[in-house]
Amino acid sequence: MDSPMPHTPSAPAAPQPLLGMTLDQLQHLCAAEGMPRFTAKQIADWLYNKQVDTIDAMTNLSLKARRRLNEICCVGKSGPVNCQVSADGTKKYLFQKSDDPQQYIEAVFIPDADRATLCVSCQAGCRMGCRFCVTGQQGFHGSLSAADILNQIFSIPESRRLTNIVFMGMGEPMDNLDHVLRATEVLTAPWGLGWSPKRITVSTVGIIPGLQRFLDQSQCHVAVSLHNPFAAEREQIMPMQRAYPIADVVALLRQYDWSGQRRISFEYTMFRGLNDDTRHAAELVRLLKGLYCRVNLIRFHSSPDTPFRTSTPQAMERFRDYLNAHGLTCTIRASRGEDIMAACGLLAGHAAE
Ligand code: SF4
Repeated sequence: MDSPMPHTPSAPAAPQPLLGMTLDQLQHLCAAEGMPRFTAKQIADWLYNKQVDTIDAMTNLSLKARRRLNEICCVGKSGPVNCQVSADGTKKYLFQKSDDPQQYIEAVFIPDADRATLCVSCQAGCRMGCRFCVTGQQGFHGSLSAADILNQIFSIPESRRLTNIVFMGMGEPMDNLDHVLRATEVLTAPWGLGWSPKRITVSTVGIIPGLQRFLDQSQCHVAVSLHNPFAAEREQIMPMQRAYPIADVVALLRQYDWSGQRRISFEYTMFRGLNDDTRHAAELVRLLKGLYCRVNLIRFHSSPDTPFRTSTPQAMERFRDYLNAHGLTCTIRASRGEDIMAACGLLAGHAAE
């Protein structure tokens, strides 16, 4: 007779983070655990309104419910492991990815006169491979869960001061859309933070299927990384142009109404001699003609290991003036946190920092 196979106990399942769960998901969880339906609303209130750190702090839940939740769940908040402060007050926070502590991601807090913006990451690294971007050059190391996205917002000391969130940190939001949509739902739903979607901007290189779904399911602002209006030239710096040409992205955007609350903007990082002359400005005007939008010019932050160079301030002003004179609203975006590598395109998530 065969001897029975030795029994190897399976590892206990990792506790499920409550942070990032929508009300719908909390209701499913409560139903599965035999808890009353209203418990889900109470948990959402403790998580997103009172912003507690532990399940034990959810004191209007029955002792039995708290005990069971402690067995299978955790709140899911985990503070930053490092913070660098720029001379201009910008702070760069470093977080560990919850399911892979070897991977780090960054969020940047940008205080201003009347605004306090947090730029969050949605992936560790990025698959898009934009040639000028430090994140893109480090490859892809996994997408963040909604819990990890929201943890950047909920676990920094300035959490309650935030007025705006921009999804412009590490990663491409449309490449992690389920979790980005869940995070924005938590931020905007009445049972969540109850923010207006006008306070949230989600950026993309223009992954068309994801962008279309996002436009249909969210009212948050959208920022498209454009950087060059000529297909062949854009492809040289943004490989995704091959799969999703910018002309097709703009054609999709034209199908939506931008005259209301939701805004579309185009991010245009300026590289000396590559995309900063009148030829580019004229083509940009042609590409975006009639679309209710704005263009943000961004100064490129040059480093010795990149072949790209920064446009001169004069070239940027000329470019801006050309667009404005030809009916496109255009501004030069102030650069923040350059001394701590927190500015656009410089996030690398280095633990050594
Ligand atoms: Fe990814 Fe954005 Fe960097 Fe492109 S610019 S590689 S989309 S993080």
